[in-house]
Amino acid sequence: MHDAQCLQCASALLKQAQSHSAMADLVRAAVTRNEQWRGQQCINLVAAESPTSPSVRALLSSEVGTRASGGHIGRDNRFFSGMKNIDELESLCVELLKMTFDAQYADHRLMGGMAAVLAAYTALTRPGDSIMTVSVIRGGDTSNRMNGPPGVRGLKVWDIPFTPKTGEVDLDRLSEMARALRPQVIGLGMTLTLFALPVREIKNIVSPWGGKVYYDAAHQLGLIASGLFQDPLNEGADLMTGSSGKTFSGPQGGIMVWNDPELTVPINTAIFPTLTGSHQINRVAALAVAATELLEYGTAYMKQVVRNARALARSLENQGVTVFYREQGYTQTHQIVMDSKPFECGRDAVQRLEAANIITNEMPLPWDVDPHRETGIRLGTVEITRLGMKEAEMGWIAEQIAKVLLRREDPMAVANGVIDFMKGYTKVYYCHEQGLPQ
Ligand SMILES: *Cc1c(COP(=O)(O)O)cnc(C)c1O
Repeated sequence: MHDAQCLQCASALLKQAQSHSAMADLVRAAVTRNEQWRGQQCINLVAAESPTSPSVRALLSSEVGTRASGGHIGRDNRFFSGMKNIDELESLCVELLKMTFDAQYADHRLMGGMAAVLAAYTALTRPGDSIMTVSVIRGGDTSNRMNGPPGVRGLKVWDIPFTPKTGEVDLDRLSEMARALRPQVIGLGMTLTLFALPVREIKNIVSPWGGKVYYDAAHQLGLIASGLFQDPLNEGADLMTGSSGKTFSGPQGGIMVWNDPELTVPINTAIFPTLTGSHQINRVAALAVAATELLEYGTAYMKQVVRNARALARSLENQGVTVFYREQGYTQTHQIVMDSKPFECGRDAVQRLEAANIITNEMPLPWDVDPHRETGIRLGTVEITRLGMKEAEMGWIAEQIAKVLLRREDPMAVANGVIDFMKGYTKVYYCHEQGLPQ
């Protein structure tokens, strides 16, 4: 539920405002304060975010955003007339997504990664079907669990088994369980995502009964587009969705890509008329431009993202902070996960870091016993990389984290250092306006 105190504060502010225009000023002031603090004075290590280029931001407030867009592309497929330019724009977006993911089919109308997951299960399953997905303590996400879209679709959800030691999918047990359960879909959705998953092997397991492999690449989309992570469609996934505002570094929203023509009708009908009406064409325009940025700069950008993640992990360990999965090189993605146990529980550590203008999030880990005391902290390197930081800066950031968590220095003092540091990183790179950082 929403925090009642936050709502009471807002209500009091609105009552004090002298006019409706003054109420609008309150809204704008909150936006500006966030832009100054989160946008300019914090080191943002939230793995689910990325800063957008100037043209993506500008397109988000463009005139097309005022147009109703229900339906499929094409004059005879729309509710409204006057769509010729919008058909062109949406076609450009679809073709750019196909190009970016080397896929036969793509859709751009999903309003979020979560909406894409719901559309995926709507297209691939019937109520009562069984699916297997990754549990939350194994890095899975509620989007693929009973309290998310699969529950709405009336599915039965079973856990994909993992080997406790290595943290990899236990393919032998999975095969055994799957043969007994005959899941319609095995859904591979991870929010804590460090390493590739055995897509090909899983496809072989479900193929005998026509089961589908669905890869929810919410986090990894930018890495996949740039050829720096596994290529799920090419490895046998039937359908891939993702968030366009995580590593993809575009406007927040969702996309979907697939190769099998037999899926085209169920997917299109799940999206329209079932799950979307107007789909925010300003967002579609921004998404199309973000795709061109990845086509041009994705490889250099995502390479640096992964290098920075590994450098940050090494620097933290040099400072005495434990980062998990050292033997496997820490990560193949934009994320690393560090151990908060020596300091306090994840939430306390995250809040102390926030007081030092270092923004992160807590993560449940497989060995956590108390669900209210998560002991992992996830760090992501997308935003700091797009602002032009490289390996050298990771050492400085690790030192600030160690000051706050290990050496218990005053977070306010560390925050002052962070504010100064961030004055050197005001431009967004890996886009047509700025190109590559030096
Ligand atoms: C973030 C995430 C989502 C939801 O995506 P939004 O774009 O935030 O709606 C879905 N699945 C996974 C695995 C995620 O990590």
